[in-house]
Amino acid sequence: MKKTPFVTKEKIEEIVKSIPTPFHIYDEKGIRENARAFKAAFSWNKGFREYFAVKATPNPYIMKILKEEGCGFDCSSYTELMLAKAVGVEAGDIMFSSNDTPAEEFAFADELKGIINLDDITHVDFLKETLGYIPEIISCRYNPGGVFKMSNGIMDNPGDAKYGMTKDQMIEAYKRLKEMGAKEFGIHAFLASNTVTNEYYPKLAGILFELAVELKEKTGVHIKFINLSGGIGVPYSPDQEPNDMAVIGEGVREQYEKILVSAGMGDVAIFTELGRYMLAPYGALITKAIHEKHTYKEYIGVDACAANLMRPAVYGSYHHITVLGKEDAPCDQTYDVVGSLCENCDKFAIDRKLPKIDKGDYLNIHDTGAHGFSMGYNYNGRLRSAEVLLKEDGSVQLIRRAEKPTDYFATFDFSDEYSSLAR
Ligand SMILES: *Cc1c(COP(=O)(O)O)cnc(C)c1O
Repeated sequence: MKKTPFVTKEKIEEIVKSIPTPFHIYDEKGIRENARAFKAAFSWNKGFREYFAVKATPNPYIMKILKEEGCGFDCSSYTELMLAKAVGVEAGDIMFSSNDTPAEEFAFADELKGIINLDDITHVDFLKETLGYIPEIISCRYNPGGVFKMSNGIMDNPGDAKYGMTKDQMIEAYKRLKEMGAKEFGIHAFLASNTVTNEYYPKLAGILFELAVELKEKTGVHIKFINLSGGIGVPYSPDQEPNDMAVIGEGVREQYEKILVSAGMGDVAIFTELGRYMLAPYGALITKAIHEKHTYKEYIGVDACAANLMRPAVYGSYHHITVLGKEDAPCDQTYDVVGSLCENCDKFAIDRKLPKIDKGDYLNIHDTGAHGFSMGYNYNGRLRSAEVLLKEDGSVQLIRRAEKPTDYFATFDFSDEYSSLAR
């Protein structure tokens, strides 16, 4: 599918007058429309709810938009819980799906009346010791082991993943949690990441629905929800076919009817914890071409680097690039588009066919709305960029300023001889 930026060159030229590049920009209209279509695809399920995976885009202005669209928040750390609290949460608005969890994070999640999702059977006692009780609603994360295959050959390796409990542990955990006072139970699993196939959720749902029936039979617990978690992907490359959420919702419904309704469990709510699908296409990294270099290859040097978007450098991920204002120009050049880190992996694109790029051109790096800014880091003393929201009315709001050197040095603030760096 052809990839079109949600901003124009003219809009960017207007924005850079007050906010210099590089920055991530987010499209409020796209975020809202997608969230509504997603909700509609699961409207057949009475208790359906998406808990946005905060780690994908941990910005309260973005989270507020999703809250307005009815989403809760999936958190997995203390600071993610703080963000959810700042945006405003009531009982049940948080899913706390963490692993290797420190005690104070369980305590904070419980204080915010979040639903705690236990990653391991030993966390049953750990939670009891931490809180002094077991919450009435509790969830456990399942790992079926082995390999997880889909008919198009895409597979993942749950057996190698650190997350979740075995089936025997799930049964044991539910029995013990019930004895300790839990009244309502959830089941959670995350078996494959960034899937671009309509098959993943229905297949995962089938596995979890059957597990739910078995758990109910063997432990007598009431299953309140099944959390299909994250893992629905987006087509980063134009030659990929996007997921069809209506087909996915219908596929999950078929499994629901077949397995849960026929077992008398038609009151189970479906939860999801999507990050990438909710945000990735509705964010872009805007960066300016500042150098061109001709050696053994042709290079374009931009003012962003892997510290602003690490996926290409670390995972070799494809992110499509549009040169703003040259949308219709022929892609008759071959470039490596690079950042300034002293690391040869700091390349946003390798051997990419692009139109002729001139210094001063703005590049739109697509699909950075999730796991983009949030994976940023400070290597080489590079600073994190600003985040900008393109609102539905076309106006622009700075939703995070760029870091300054004093931010980078702030942790030297001991009022000793180097403390002036932090001021
Ligand atoms: C990362 C994560 C998600 C979100 O994953 P996406 O691939 O962004 O949809 C959801 N739940 C848990 C527990 C996660 O770790």
